[in-house]
Amino acid sequence: MIELVDPDLPRVEITLEAPGDTDGVTELALDSGGGSVREPGRDLELVEARAGGAILDVERLEPWRWRLTHAPDARITAVFALEDTAHRADPDPRVHYLPIVEPGFLHVIGSHALAAPEHLDGGEERPLRLEWRGFAEAGWRTLTSFGIDGGPREVRSSLDGFRHALFLAGRMQVLERSVRGAPVCVSVYGDAWATPVADFADLCASIVETEREFFGELDRPFYLISLIPVGTREPGVVSMGGTGLTNSFALFLLPGASLVAEEGPGMSIPWLLAHEMFHEWNGHAVTLAQPERLGYWFSEGFSDFYARRLLLRAGLLTLEGYADSWNTRFAEFATNPERNAPAERIAEAFWTDRNVGDLPYQRGDLVALLIDHAIRTRTNGEQSLDDLMRDLVRRSRAGQREFTVDELLAAIGEFAGEPAAAHVREVVVDGVDPELPSDVGAPELELVRTEIPSFEVGFDHDKTVAEGVVASVREDSAAAHAGLRDGMQALGWSVSFGRTDLTIEIQVCEGEGVRKISYLPVGEAVPAYRFQVRQPCQVRQP
Ligand SMILES: [Zn+2]
Repeated sequence: MIELVDPDLPRVEITLEAPGDTDGVTELALDSGGGSVREPGRDLELVEARAGGAILDVERLEPWRWRLTHAPDARITAVFALEDTAHRADPDPRVHYLPIVEPGFLHVIGSHALAAPEHLDGGEERPLRLEWRGFAEAGWRTLTSFGIDGGPREVRSSLDGFRHALFLAGRMQVLERSVRGAPVCVSVYGDAWATPVADFADLCASIVETEREFFGELDRPFYLISLIPVGTREPGVVSMGGTGLTNSFALFLLPGASLVAEEGPGMSIPWLLAHEMFHEWNGHAVTLAQPERLGYWFSEGFSDFYARRLLLRAGLLTLEGYADSWNTRFAEFATNPERNAPAERIAEAFWTDRNVGDLPYQRGDLVALLIDHAIRTRTNGEQSLDDLMRDLVRRSRAGQREFTVDELLAAIGEFAGEPAAAHVREVVVDGVDPELPSDVGAPELELVRTEIPSFEVGFDHDKTVAEGVVASVREDSAAAHAGLRDGMQALGWSVSFGRTDLTIEIQVCEGEGVRKISYLPVGEAVPAYRFQVRQPCQVRQP
């Protein structure tokens, strides 16, 4: 039960009732976060635990984990309290996944607020009851991944699926759409958006429809898309984040942001929606076996590949925009200093090294292109990667829950042939560069080989940021040529990582004043691929 105890403060209490462990000791746990969330559990307080009328001893083992001692086999009740959190305004995206509670609004990703008894099998389907109390009385609407305005009271789900759902309450705009008869609900909090929210709801519905059609799964349950403003608006800054959850998607944007496609090769709202919703199949239906990070090239890279492909097919991206998007991707990959990192390096440094974290997206995207081409060539255009994706989803719906990298490679071999699968293995396991055939973009796009400048800041950025003193300026770098020297006091800087077309600006102390040093972070040239749109043949008029 989720209860609004005090709408003004506000204070919310979450009451969990469940069978305790047979041995009389029950551990209740939230997600530990795995690096993507800052200090999970810190907002929750376990205010009371009971079993059969008796108050239980509680020990907090971690901020996100509690131990209850009770009579063997007892049914336990635990009450957690949440009060006003200031997470929504925090610029750090790792806190936006934590429970957000503020006057008039509640935003909860289940796994960070609904503690689960560790002795229960999280994957087993079971009936689960959810009750909202006190919200309607205070004029707050309630919405979950399963339904709207307090319903349904009971769902059949695994505990994991339920806890990876979204739970919202408050005074938000709720827009309902129907996608071929299936309900899709769009919740928008905040009212200063640069786009009419109805247009945003239409965009969401059209992407949901495109992807369901792709997988031939139009008969889907209720689906919820939530948008909330986070951080503070700064001119010229675009920032977006989101996560796909059970039958839902949570989107986080800067206040006042535009909600439709923006020109430019970078990430856009349609892209983010298309990528995240694709995880409904590639991620939730087809699940990676542990350690998941070894398979991120598939879950993340292929979701990027399909975001681009499906936006093109839906008319939400032009052919030029599609080629631009590929060229940005080719450049990111070519200039990534971790480009040849093997899979173990990704497993180890995904969350700690920016370049390693980006690599599975880039590498997987290129690998998808490669496999798509191999399947089309092998089947004379009868089949493509689309058929492989649908086949994997069929296997998962038929009961195969998890896929190891070896199983994915075996499936790739079945569709694309052994030589292609062997090359993919070299790329995703050993870190070899993918070899793209020249006709990989045919017929519309021509692949050319080119050279582009690598991204080089020219000094030790992390050390400089940490110590406030410029460190390790590279001889003969653009930074050195612009006048940057070791030991200068750095007062401020702006760096767009990976972008060789945007200047780096650093303010340093000079005498009594401040000197601004700026330069393009251009390093050595590296080989890269590039797509060119083929111009249709001109028919000469007599
Ligand atoms: Zn993703």
